[in-house]
Amino acid sequence: MSNSLSVLLVDDDEDDYLIIRNLMAKIPSSPFKIEWISSPEKAKDVIDAARHDIYLIDYRLGDQNGLELLSQFDLVQRPEPFIILTGAGDENVERRAMRMGVADYLVKGALDSELLSRVLRYSLQRKIIESQRVRQLMEINRSKDEFIALASHQLRTPATAVKQYVGMILEGYAGDITPEQHKFLQSAYESNERQIKVVNDILRVAKLDLKKITLRRAEVDIGKLMESILHDSASLFKNRSQKVIYEQPAEAVTALVDTEYIRMALGNIIDNASKYTPPEKSITVTVAPASRGKVVVDISDEGVGIADKDIDKLFKKFSRIDNPLSVKVGGTGLGLYWSNEVVQLHGGTIKVSSKLGSGTAFKICLDTKA
Ligand code: ADP
Repeated sequence: MSNSLSVLLVDDDEDDYLIIRNLMAKIPSSPFKIEWISSPEKAKDVIDAARHDIYLIDYRLGDQNGLELLSQFDLVQRPEPFIILTGAGDENVERRAMRMGVADYLVKGALDSELLSRVLRYSLQRKIIESQRVRQLMEINRSKDEFIALASHQLRTPATAVKQYVGMILEGYAGDITPEQHKFLQSAYESNERQIKVVNDILRVAKLDLKKITLRRAEVDIGKLMESILHDSASLFKNRSQKVIYEQPAEAVTALVDTEYIRMALGNIIDNASKYTPPEKSITVTVAPASRGKVVVDISDEGVGIADKDIDKLFKKFSRIDNPLSVKVGGTGLGLYWSNEVVQLHGGTIKVSSKLGSGTAFKICLDTKA
């Protein structure tokens, strides 16, 4: 422990301050130095400045209570311990305080210098251990992301080579093959394509989580971009006999985005609209300017829909939601997580509304250049 530890007391009663100061002075070779603030309004700024090692907050602070003051901070993330001073019989307050991340509590009438010293030291020590654990966990998580990125990168190279060679045999570069050989190789080719897609999904997410994404923003005509995405997905819709209705904006609507990332993010949502919609149904896409310098892309389908209870899971990593088509179409549960993160990196939002059995609508909102 360093030589001197500063303790900030927030308490509107000067007597409490004097009592605690005296008790601290009685702690043998006390490292604690107390500062006192009586007004909770001023305390907010001082606590924000994070200049103290420990915070002691009185529960009864004039009009406000100490918990209201504390609710303005993320106590779990703060590296310093917060200790609440309560009156006798305030167990309810103590429980609420603990749930907020308060390190400990002291009952005012039952204070002595030994107890005060112990609570201050232990709270501090626990916070130090907690912070070390958090750092270790973050380190482990980062190593895991790096491993995933490396492994998926290494897996992608040979998988892509397999695709090329099998593709060449299928196209006849190695001579004639029998219809049966063609059939088997075609299955191998399609399995390999799915494998590459999974590896790519994992690699993309690992890069995102490692913050290895650099956006190269340019002015992009979102209407044209969507036209091109739909054009690339045309065979998908055709194979599933789905109808696509595209309503383009009357005039070009541009946004300042990274074309490739936004193309992939919107492409995922279009891909899902097709995947989770039965044949013969329609998918409607609209790109339109919106108020306050926004462009909105609406992608609505007449698919299986999503139950209300599952909506919250939609953008979580690896969350696949069971539906009548999910086993058949396959997937990793990473597409929407990735798309949402990318849109948020651009400062945009994705909203979703859905009705089970009737269809789903995604609304992607991006800032226009202007
Ligand atoms: P994946 O499609 O690989 O499972 P996503 O992250 O793209 O992963 O989607 C997560 C889940 O959300 C899917 O498993 C699916 O159940 C559901 N979902 C996504 N888009 C739609 C949609 N348009 N209609 C119905 N369900 C959808």
